[in-house]
Amino acid sequence: MYQIRIVLLLLTLNIFNVNCYSLTPTPSKKEITKLAKQASKYLRAANFEKSLITSRLVLHHAINAKDNNLVANSYNTIAANYEKLSEYDKAIFFYKKGLSYANKTDNDTIKGWINNNLGNIYCFEKKQYKKGINYYKNSLDYSKKLADTSQIVLTKLNITWAYFDIGLFDKGFPYLKFINKYHEEYGDERTIVALNMLNGMYYGFKGEYKIATSSFLNGIKLGNEGNDKSDLSYTHQEYSKYLLKNGDYKKAYENLALYNKITEELFNKEILKKANIVGINLELDEYKREIEKIEIEKDLQYQSLRKSRIIVLLFVIILGVLLLLLYTLYKNNNFKKKNNKELSLANDKLVIAKEKAEEASVLKSQFVSTITHELRTPLYGVVGITNMLLDEHKELANSPHLSSLKFSARYLLSLVNDVLQINKIEENRIVLENLTFNISDEINMIKNSLSFIAKNNNNFIIVNIDPAIPEYLIGDKLRLSQIIINLVSNALKFTKNGEVFIDVNLEKIIDKSHFIEFKIKDNGVGIAFEDQDKIFEKFVQVGRKEVDYQGTGLGLSIVKRLLGLFGSDITLESAIGVGTEFTFTIAFEFDPEKTNEIINNIPVDLSSNKQLKVLVVEDNKINQIVTEKILKKNNYKCTLVDDGYQAIKLLEDEIFDVILMDINMPLINGFETSRRIRFKGIKTPIVALTAFDKEEIIEEAISAGIDDIIVKPFDSVKLFKIINVLLSKNKNHDLTPVF
Ligand code: ADP
Repeated sequence: MYQIRIVLLLLTLNIFNVNCYSLTPTPSKKEITKLAKQASKYLRAANFEKSLITSRLVLHHAINAKDNNLVANSYNTIAANYEKLSEYDKAIFFYKKGLSYANKTDNDTIKGWINNNLGNIYCFEKKQYKKGINYYKNSLDYSKKLADTSQIVLTKLNITWAYFDIGLFDKGFPYLKFINKYHEEYGDERTIVALNMLNGMYYGFKGEYKIATSSFLNGIKLGNEGNDKSDLSYTHQEYSKYLLKNGDYKKAYENLALYNKITEELFNKEILKKANIVGINLELDEYKREIEKIEIEKDLQYQSLRKSRIIVLLFVIILGVLLLLLYTLYKNNNFKKKNNKELSLANDKLVIAKEKAEEASVLKSQFVSTITHELRTPLYGVVGITNMLLDEHKELANSPHLSSLKFSARYLLSLVNDVLQINKIEENRIVLENLTFNISDEINMIKNSLSFIAKNNNNFIIVNIDPAIPEYLIGDKLRLSQIIINLVSNALKFTKNGEVFIDVNLEKIIDKSHFIEFKIKDNGVGIAFEDQDKIFEKFVQVGRKEVDYQGTGLGLSIVKRLLGLFGSDITLESAIGVGTEFTFTIAFEFDPEKTNEIINNIPVDLSSNKQLKVLVVEDNKINQIVTEKILKKNNYKCTLVDDGYQAIKLLEDEIFDVILMDINMPLINGFETSRRIRFKGIKTPIVALTAFDKEEIIEEAISAGIDDIIVKPFDSVKLFKIINVLLSKNKNHDLTPVF
């Protein structure tokens, strides 16, 4: 059986001149569309060869132009060609390809067409009604979406026919009803014969003979009037079946004969057509292969496009990353540069600040040293004159004013000395000395010198010295005494009617080091727990009364710092109302050989009955009086001169046993005067009598030929000791300075 359904194609809406298009290597979309319409036109004219050649060209261009719409269209035309040539499998293959491209677009028209065309093939050629009807229904959905009633009518007619073919009249009826309603307005005149036939079939099935008969007859009439005879043949066939069913055998036979006749004619035509296209048929496979080649080419193009896209993408990503890296590097570099600049600026500032700080520190120490020097000179006078007054006027011994004066002067002196001491420790200018000493002697000396303060508060000093401690030890006895004096005088100050213990014990011996533990304990007022850390800070005094001038608040900080020089520390235990105990340990060297050497070097002959002649070179009148008084009191013959020149002149004519030389003098200072004295070959021992600190001037003193230095205000005993040592050395022609 041969059926002709309406195949939906891109219609030739305009009149194209076949020769009017000139193919450029890349035709415009308009030109490709023109070609596609031309291919449809060839198909409708049954010129399959031309239609296929043109479609292939369209496909090629459409793929190149990446126009899925046109690709779907060309596949649809190619498939329709195959359908017409009864190559149904190939037709299905290309329809499906077309559909896959159509589905990539939003063109619902082409989607609807291809679904309808697939429905035709499946229902009427492949007899796979279910599949076919599904395609029809898909097509129907697209048409509804587009509100294309003509298309809906056409597809519904196909569905009705399909249902009726398999005897499902009730299922097909709603579609038939719809077509009957809208066919006149929207239907295609080519389908009017089929519509009448379908009505005949339905009403025949329903037993409504009148309407069935009239429908069949009307269909036959219209079929005879029209060109398309295939639907007429089907109508005759269906009418014959109907008549047979109703017992009208004669008419049934007549219609069957007509059906056979028309079918035969059509079949013959078909044979002819097929004969005509037999040559084409041979080429069909070639076309298919060509089309497949286009596909493969397209695939390859697509692949290489994908590859090049990936390459481009990778390139862009790498470029992006590189740019980002470059940017980060640039930023980093800038940041580093900025940082470096800031750092070097900060560094410069720091260097300047450091220089300033160093300068300030030098200035501070110079300032402190100048101030203390300046203060010491007048203090020397004040203390000296006070002593003189007390000596000369015994009746003033009980004068409260004089004792206040003496006390104040001493207080000032100790303050100046303390400040100087702290300053020196802080600047690391103190180097511990190694002297041989006897701990018992030192402690007893301290006890004696503090006995006056002890009496004031009615205290007793009790000394306990461990007999295991060697007789002589080596170390800085002066700093040790300073520490103990500070602690014991504090204990005496803050205790009334009590006892102050000085306990000295040998803690341990490691090699030559004897670790001696010192404990200064009182049963005085005690120190509150919260104040115990504070008291070691500078100028800290706890519970000081306004009128109380005792102490400067520097004693314990000096103690702590001095102990630091010994590599030791101090511990404190105290309770208010119970008392206070300070403990520290110092390692002293014990070396009998060294000790003997030092002891042997101590000059013994300090006694001299001879009245010694002393030249005092001093510009300060008050100090002249004080020094002269001290010397005379101790049976020295004293000559005073106001400056260095006078001294040099006098020394040319007179011989002195010793010269006491002030350093800071106008006209010519003590160093220069000494230098000139030595230049003249005068070897008389020179003792610098100065308010400067010893360490500050020692180097210049040596180079100027000075033999020793004594710092004002001085202890007269110390001065006489120095003089004796120098004189005994001079006697032995040993002129090396003692210092
Ligand atoms: P100051 O010159 O005032 O004695 P210090 O630094 O020697 O300065 O002492 C600081 C403070 O510590 C003192 O003012 C005192 O309050 C307290 N202090 C020191 N030793 C004793 C002690 N043995 N008993 C009670 N208080 C003490």
